[in-house]
Amino acid sequence: MPTYEYVCEACQHEFEEFQQISDAHLRVCPKCRKRKLRRKIGTGAAVLFKGSGFYQTDYRSKEYKEKAKSDSAPTPAACDAGKCATCPNAKKNGA
Ligand SMILES: [Zn+2]
Repeated sequence: MPTYEYVCEACQHEFEEFQQISDAHLRVCPKCRKRKLRRKIGTGAAVLFKGSGFYQTDYRSKEYKEKAKSDSAPTPAACDAGKCATCPNAKKNGA
């Protein structure tokens, strides 16, 4: 059974509630009786999992980006415009 965390925006009362997924979300604060409850999302294990995944992805993409940069570095940007006289692309395109 999932645990939902609620916080009351009126009195800042925080508590956890065991609920079925099909259960309606709580609305009324059990402390001040006001309809100011807000469900907290993305807490606990979900954040931890997201955090580690983020760092792994970031590391991998940075490494990939560095590799891609070094691969494309020898090719001058002018090749795309056909202005490079020495590169194979210009010879292919030019007369
Ligand atoms: Zn309250």
